Amino acid sequence: MTHAQRILGIVVPALLFVVVQSACERTEGGGVVTGGTDERATPRAAAPVEAAEDAPMWAVDDGLGFEPLPTPAPGDWLDVHHEFGQSFAGFLRSGPNRPDETRSVLVLQPIGRFDHPSAPPVGTLRRFTETYFGMPAQVLPAVNLDHVDVTSRRVANLRRPQLLTGELLDLLRRNLPEYAFCSVGITMQDLYPGPDWNYVFGQASLRERVAVYSFVRYVPAFWGEDSDDPSLVLRRSCKVLAHETAHAFGIRHCTACLCVMNGSNHLAESDSRPLHLCPNDLRKLQWSVGFDVVERYRRLAALYREIGFDDGAEWIDRRLRHIEG
Ligand SMILES: [Zn+2]
Ligand SMILES: [Zn+2]
Repeated sequence: MTHAQRILGIVVPALLFVVVQSACERTEGGGVVTGGTDERATPRAAAPVEAAEDAPMWAVDDGLGFEPLPTPAPGDWLDVHHEFGQSFAGFLRSGPNRPDETRSVLVLQPIGRFDHPSAPPVGTLRRFTETYFGMPAQVLPAVNLDHVDVTSRRVANLRRPQLLTGELLDLLRRNLPEYAFCSVGITMQDLYPGPDWNYVFGQASLRERVAVYSFVRYVPAFWGEDSDDPSLVLRRSCKVLAHETAHAFGIRHCTACLCVMNGSNHLAESDSRPLHLCPNDLRKLQWSVGFDVVERYRRLAALYREIGFDDGAEWIDRRLRHIEG
């Protein structure tokens, strides 16, 4: 049991992760809709499924660099949720949202102050988003919480009030630029989705292309823990940005191998997932954005070295050696 679970007991995490799931999930092939994330509400013409044939070499899982998913432990995502993955053909059939000339920018919207000593640098989050997705990313001026009307509440042991996620999503929706493919609110304030909840990491409405995530619980000190990894909070923050933004492209949870698109039910499970996309999910993103895969890997490796993600850079180096022969 993690420290968080010890604090929260059993019932609250179960509630918590329903909202995290609703942040992630949308329907496909008549699946169950959870809370306002039905992408079919904005349908686009599905791509021809024949395009799923003849996968390029970099999109094939040859077992090199991609580890199998471990058997889920009690309380892990796949122990609780019965998911079967998403093939490339299934992704195309779903008619996913795709960037175009009009909606071509990934927008990050800071909410409140990012002056927490352990807050991830917003400029680095922008560069990561831009490099990871091969699309322009923009940081909007931070929302000054003194100037907006968002419901909050005081909670014992928290220095700052918690903010109500639904109203933040409304705010993001109102401020959504025309050119945005999606807008992700990021904050160091703690969040809650309703009065019956202790907290939530984040919530999204993919149909409306907005999401909000708090990084404050990624700080080990929040849980009274120490860490000797100076890049831990940034790594966790980048991972959630990669995972949730990929959902906005219509990429669902991955069950093929260890991948940033694996579902996770708690912080320890998320920490055990890699930052990279598996070949199948990389193929989906490349189809959507159209970047050069080798060039993207090279840029990501350079950025990872700069920001202290050395293991991620080394993984990419090995992958590139394999792809390029
Ligand atoms: Zn997800
Ligand atoms: Zn995957």
